[in-house]
Amino acid sequence: MCGIVGYVGKKISIQDSLIKNLKTLEYRGYDSAGVAYVCDNKVEIIKKSGKISNLEEAIDDNLTSNMGIAHTRWATHGDATDINSHPHKVGCVTIVHNGIIENYLELKDLLIKKGYNFLSSTDTEVACAYLDYLKKDIDNNLEVIKEFQKGIKGSYALGIIFDDELDTLYATKCDSPLIIGLSKHENLIASDVSAIVNFTKKYVIVNNLEIIKLTKDKVEFYNSDLEIINKKIEEVNWSIEAHDKCGYEHYMLKEIHEEAEVLRNTLNDYIDVNAFLKNMPDFSKYKKIHIVACGSAMHAGLVGKYIIESDSEIEVNVEVASEYRYKKVFYDKDTLVILISQSGETADTIASLRKAKEDGIDTLGIVNVVSSTIAREVDTVLYIKAGVEVAVATTKAYLLQVAMLMLINLKLKYDKKLINKDELSSSLDMFKKAPNYLQELLNNEDTYFKLASILYQDEDIFFIGRGIDYAICMEGSLKLKEISYIHSEAYQAGELKHGTISLISNNTKVIAVMTDKDVYLKTISNIKEVKARGAYVILITIDSIKEELEFADEVIVVKDINKYLTPMLAIIPLQLISYKVAYLRNCDIDKPKNLAKSVTVE
Ligand code: GLU
Repeated sequence: MCGIVGYVGKKISIQDSLIKNLKTLEYRGYDSAGVAYVCDNKVEIIKKSGKISNLEEAIDDNLTSNMGIAHTRWATHGDATDINSHPHKVGCVTIVHNGIIENYLELKDLLIKKGYNFLSSTDTEVACAYLDYLKKDIDNNLEVIKEFQKGIKGSYALGIIFDDELDTLYATKCDSPLIIGLSKHENLIASDVSAIVNFTKKYVIVNNLEIIKLTKDKVEFYNSDLEIINKKIEEVNWSIEAHDKCGYEHYMLKEIHEEAEVLRNTLNDYIDVNAFLKNMPDFSKYKKIHIVACGSAMHAGLVGKYIIESDSEIEVNVEVASEYRYKKVFYDKDTLVILISQSGETADTIASLRKAKEDGIDTLGIVNVVSSTIAREVDTVLYIKAGVEVAVATTKAYLLQVAMLMLINLKLKYDKKLINKDELSSSLDMFKKAPNYLQELLNNEDTYFKLASILYQDEDIFFIGRGIDYAICMEGSLKLKEISYIHSEAYQAGELKHGTISLISNNTKVIAVMTDKDVYLKTISNIKEVKARGAYVILITIDSIKEELEFADEVIVVKDINKYLTPMLAIIPLQLISYKVAYLRNCDIDKPKNLAKSVTVE
């Protein structure tokens, strides 16, 4: 969600110093883009609603500068118009901002009384005017930012240019992501490391309320008391090629095809040569688990709930982070809170993590992005090894979140002495075969693509399943609506007849997932109920069910590995069907409208 970049260094083209970097943040989701750069001792701004390509068209190829800031905006306050786009300049201050200024109306009133006029409807312009207002009485720009922090409520990552220091870039943050890239005679700011790897692999993570002063040859880090602080320099462990489509038409398809490999890599990190679990904490003391997440990560949590409750006999509550952070939570001291977030920067999940920590509850993060906020703040982090995921709709990270919860389940069972070492080893041996079965499904993509041609002209599609299959349906349905814009709902198969079955009529498409052998006869009855009302049914099931399946119009069969691993296989056809449906509908698959990859505002 939203991207910030900034550059101070040599006099090079804006295209190279800012736009190229900004493009690597496109995947985060945005609706407008803009740039501010220093030219002939003043700050110039170009900004446009829509794609970065609109901005590029407005920029002269020969334009050069030694300093600038740029932004992709995901509108929170005010429409996605040119005027609301960032950067904003008020008086002697120019800024780009990621986040939400919560007290902007109060500040706006104050500033209007002081004579300020506002051109946009954004909270950001108010923040900019507030900096300009403070600047009138304070000469030192670090002091201005320090005072600004005291008066602002909300979240922000800011790149700031002051007219009286046109060779110095300032940055600060509170609850929105920000990193600093360090290079020779060139220094950068960015929302994430993908925007600096064109220049350098060395970066520093900025913590809340730190203030950074960057010039061509020097970067100074200050705490909120304006004392100089030393920061750890991190190194990016992947290259720019991770951002390549490698011949696939879309990142999403590339990322689905990486699933077998990333699962193998992740399992290698957690299963040792003796088929025993490594790098995992001891779970024996926990009697209750809360899984807190948003979107697909929450759906992964639902799969985890079904597995852990039935297998490790521990109560698991799965909660949407935006609700959890504000609700009354009844913690026991033996509760573990598991936070799941691909980016590790999801604002609501971070807030939920802090809430649990305030209450002294143990926290564990399942995170993809190394050193992200959640990874740093949880008591224990378990990294999934998805690598860079560029498509906004997650595929490989979701699969690995599910896999990680399965590993946690096995460790829980072992720690609680529900299984012995040999039983654990044989489960892990089985788990290690899962990537091969995934690969077989991936090799079979044409079968799923054919089914997409049956679905792509529909406007309502239902997903039904029971138990863990329902959790898989939730994700299948979300994937479809995210990228194809088809209305879709997931229902517990037995619940449909309590209302929603009224929507089923002739040729309504229903995708049924049936991998759970304990309840499959019940699911068959539910499928027959929708069939009797004219539905067209695509059934995803397992090879060990020997029942006649002629009641379904189309059948996809996946290998039955075991009760827990098999549902993971059912995800692959659902992801590939969604991809192809969106493809046939000509949708912008990697950057669906209104969506952002890393949701850094609440
Ligand atoms: N709240 C600001 C706006 O609506 C910033 C949004 C963003 O993070 O892109 O302009």
